[in-house]
Amino acid sequence: MQLKDKTAVITGSTSGIGLGIAHAFAQAGANVVINGLGTADEHKDVVAAVARHGTKVIFGEANMMRPDEIIRMISTMEDEFGGVDILINNAGIQHVAPVEDFAPEKWDAIIAINLSSSFHTIRSVVPGMKKRKWGRIINLCSAHSLRASPHKAAYVAAKHGLAGLTKVVALECATSGVTVNAISPGFVWTPLVEAQLPDVAEAEGISIEEAKALTLKRQPSGEFATVDQIGALATFLASEPAAAITGSNYSIDGGWTAL
Ligand code: NAD
Repeated sequence: MQLKDKTAVITGSTSGIGLGIAHAFAQAGANVVINGLGTADEHKDVVAAVARHGTKVIFGEANMMRPDEIIRMISTMEDEFGGVDILINNAGIQHVAPVEDFAPEKWDAIIAINLSSSFHTIRSVVPGMKKRKWGRIINLCSAHSLRASPHKAAYVAAKHGLAGLTKVVALECATSGVTVNAISPGFVWTPLVEAQLPDVAEAEGISIEEAKALTLKRQPSGEFATVDQIGALATFLASEPAAAITGSNYSIDGGWTAL
């Protein structure tokens, strides 16, 4: 039980990668705060499924576009569990369009959810982590924190920004027992990737199946990474043996960024 008696807040954990990390953490003995768009009632089945591993699991309601809700959620969870030991900044959305057609409200939403929400969660948890001299912050970046693709202006800007934020906070926390790292997946088969295929197809003038093949072309392994693989890496980074790892950005991308 690598994470026994730890409490983890995982943003965007009602689906995909965040949910995979939630299962991995609960299996490793951590209490888990599930978060995602919607209410506790709407996500009670997800909470119950993660709770089956035997730890305390509750829903933390907060829209990652709203700083006041983020701050309130973290403060409520600190009271509920006596502190947040592990923070996973994972909530994210995507929108695909050429820059001249990129709707400004989509830009604002992606920057708010994929970048600024992590600033708000981090500045809320760091004082408690420093005080207890132990903490783990893991930011779900992307191969797009290291490489660019056309038609993903906001996403690539947000992920590059999040990689930078990871390094700054790692330096600020370097002597405090708090580590700050990034995980940068290539393509992982989740609802986020599935939902962008119609936009890719439209932007490239190809079919959905061709868009899926085009997507995988970036990944030399020719295979999607899995949410379980990312859960395992996150569990290691949150564990005791990873205490000396901070300011790192771990690729899990089938060789994409080796190109
Ligand atoms: P997903 O669509 O399956 O899940 C996204 C989660 O974010 C959901 O729980 C959703 O409710 C939540 N969310 C969205 N908007 C929110 C908001 N305003 N407030 C609170 N929660 C909100 O996506 P995923 O593929 O699992 O992606 C998770 C993270 O991993 C994202 O940051 C994404 O950029 C990153 N990532 C994904 C891939 C991939 O191939 N799937 C690759 C690299 C990085």
